[in-house]
Amino acid sequence: MTNSQETPQNPRLPLTLQLGNATAEEQQRLMASIFAHTQEGIVITDAEATIVEVNHAFCELTGYSREEVIGHNPRLLQSGHHSPEIYAALWQALLDQGHWQGELWNRRKDGRMIAELMAIWAVKDLCGAITHYIGIFSDITASKQSEQRLQQMAYHDALTRLPNRVLLLDRLQKEIARTDRQDILLAVCYLDLDGFKPVNDLLGHVAGDQLLIMVADRLRHCIRESDTVARLGGDEFVVLFADLTRVEECHNTLDRLLRVLAEPYTVSNQSVEVTASVGVTLCPQDGGDADTLLRHADQAMYLAKQTGRNRYVLFDAEHDRQIRAHRDQLSRIDTALDTGELRLYYQPKVDMYRGTVIGAEALVRWQHPERGLLPPSEFLPVIEGHILMVKLDHWVFTEALRQMACWHMQGLRFAISVNVSATTLQQAGFPDWLAALLAAHPQVPPQALELEIVETIALDDLGRVLPVIQRCITLGVGFALDDFGTGYSSLTYFRRLPVRTLKIDQSFVRNMLVDTEDMTIVEVVINLAQTFQRAVIAEGMETALHGAALLRLGCHCAQGYGIARPMPPEAFPEWARGFTQHPLWAAGMAFEGVLLINVEAEHRTWVGQVDDFVHGTLPYAPLINDDQCCRFGRWYSQQGLLRYGHLATFQTVEPLHRQFHQLAQELIGLHTTDASAALARLAELYAVCDALIEHLYRLQKELLAP
Ligand code: C2E
Ligand code: MG
Ligand code: MG
Repeated sequence: MTNSQETPQNPRLPLTLQLGNATAEEQQRLMASIFAHTQEGIVITDAEATIVEVNHAFCELTGYSREEVIGHNPRLLQSGHHSPEIYAALWQALLDQGHWQGELWNRRKDGRMIAELMAIWAVKDLCGAITHYIGIFSDITASKQSEQRLQQMAYHDALTRLPNRVLLLDRLQKEIARTDRQDILLAVCYLDLDGFKPVNDLLGHVAGDQLLIMVADRLRHCIRESDTVARLGGDEFVVLFADLTRVEECHNTLDRLLRVLAEPYTVSNQSVEVTASVGVTLCPQDGGDADTLLRHADQAMYLAKQTGRNRYVLFDAEHDRQIRAHRDQLSRIDTALDTGELRLYYQPKVDMYRGTVIGAEALVRWQHPERGLLPPSEFLPVIEGHILMVKLDHWVFTEALRQMACWHMQGLRFAISVNVSATTLQQAGFPDWLAALLAAHPQVPPQALELEIVETIALDDLGRVLPVIQRCITLGVGFALDDFGTGYSSLTYFRRLPVRTLKIDQSFVRNMLVDTEDMTIVEVVINLAQTFQRAVIAEGMETALHGAALLRLGCHCAQGYGIARPMPPEAFPEWARGFTQHPLWAAGMAFEGVLLINVEAEHRTWVGQVDDFVHGTLPYAPLINDDQCCRFGRWYSQQGLLRYGHLATFQTVEPLHRQFHQLAQELIGLHTTDASAALARLAELYAVCDALIEHLYRLQKELLAP
């Protein structure tokens, strides 16, 4: 509705007009002639909007005779096309500005709609009071209809007459904005027919088109007025369910929609069946813009196809976010590799028995421009199993070889171990690549390079990995089995893998002094290595005391914070020059001290088990060796007695130790006959254990004193 620029003082139909020197009577006649013959309909009402006069054109355009409308309100022509607000605005403009102009759809007497370009004025008397309203209008139905046809063509699909992508996007944007303002849900459903192509191929395109029209009709019937169904092209449709309050409403409607679409269709006198796969994304949970929502719904639709068709799948916004984040991380790591942000650190490996540095393990780091130096746990899991892992491994090997060559030229003949991923070992071309790298560094003997593979990974693809490992071995490089003890079926695979070294996993080494089971595992792995004639090295050696325990168990080589943390290459030669053997590792020294620490762990574990048993939380009686058979008992009655039997502190341990074992067995037995008596004596066992440990520490101090 546009307002006229003309004012009531300058109306298009002047009531007083000076026509040359025509008389008032001539003017009157002229005016009447214009009124009678003009092509535009004219209606004149009084101040109360009752029609007092209409012209001939009015009667022609509306189909009403003069007599039928005089005395009536123009409301009689209303079509119901416009809302009451439009008429209210019209009257408001007439009252405020004295005129209104705009387009109105009215209804002719025969019921047909007519589009009118209408201008209305209020006519006032000399005192400014409204005396009449004059309306003048022309019929613009034809141009309106062609405009509508153009609109229809621009915004609708010609075949199904459903909104097309342009109109869909417009509506989608409006609906998204509405979900922002109101507490409502919008479901964007991307729909693709299953089995449409065969209909098109077998029955022809005309039948295909018929089918699409029928599908469009069924879709139209499944939705409410506030919803939108659009055709994107081919057999792809989009339905927008607006104004949802709960997700369940969407589920119900989609169930119905799938059922309705799956009903048989008759095209070209044949019955055909098609179903639909639907992908759905919900706004505002999915906070994307219109294009993104459509893309997400499309992705979910593919999932619906893949998982069996004739179904709908909800887009998982969180899952998608994770996938995109992962893709970003991959590309960031790739860039880091290309721009030289990765570093290799070196953690020394030593022979504790001889007191020498045997080499180092190369460990990758990321010197991140914002986040600082990152450990591999921050980025390796992201590329695990991805081809980028191969790129990283190649970089590590290249850098390690360059560094080794550099050290070798300075006379520093360190052996370096490099971690290699299963992904790289699965590349059949890896041995050739490594051969070329070694050939490019003739200063480095291949024997100085060791490849560490992780036991758990080695299990996965042994068939593919074994030939690669064997070809690498022919180049002269060695292999170590990393993190040994953490995988499963260790023995079987260990036997098949041609590794020369076992690396005991740090988790066992770390707790071996306080956890007897870990101590046992370390012991078993060392024995295993010796039995199969492999070298063994312990990683995660955090204190010199751990080293002493390892030495006692027969493992001479170690790596860990107790020796040195991983360091940049420039620091390594100096560190190696300054390395000295820890006094605890000098042959035979640490043996007892370590043993005693372990005794504490073992005996306290037993006390805990007895406690649980008499309280009823351990369902079976704990197995406790007697004082002759426990680890400490064996040492005490053999080597201990031989070496320290003369010491008073040594002698007084024995009765305490026996008392401990006897009391523990007694309480276990008592629990079955008199549970409360066993409970009452529990404190006694704790006290004896404390006394034993205290005594052992006194002995340890005495033995270790220089
Ligand atoms: P790994 O090969 O078992 O390396 C030993 C890890 O234990 C290193 O962690 C090292 O810093 C850490 N470590 C050494 N001694 C101690 C100790 O006494 N206490 C404790 N708590 N930790 C100790 P890092 O450097 O974080 O590496 C973690 C893992 O990432 C490595 O385990 C290895 O599997 C992998 N990795 C590291 N660098 C590379 C690489 O260049 N290529 C590949 N493919 N993997 C690598
Ligand atoms: Mg390693
Ligand atoms: Mg390891």
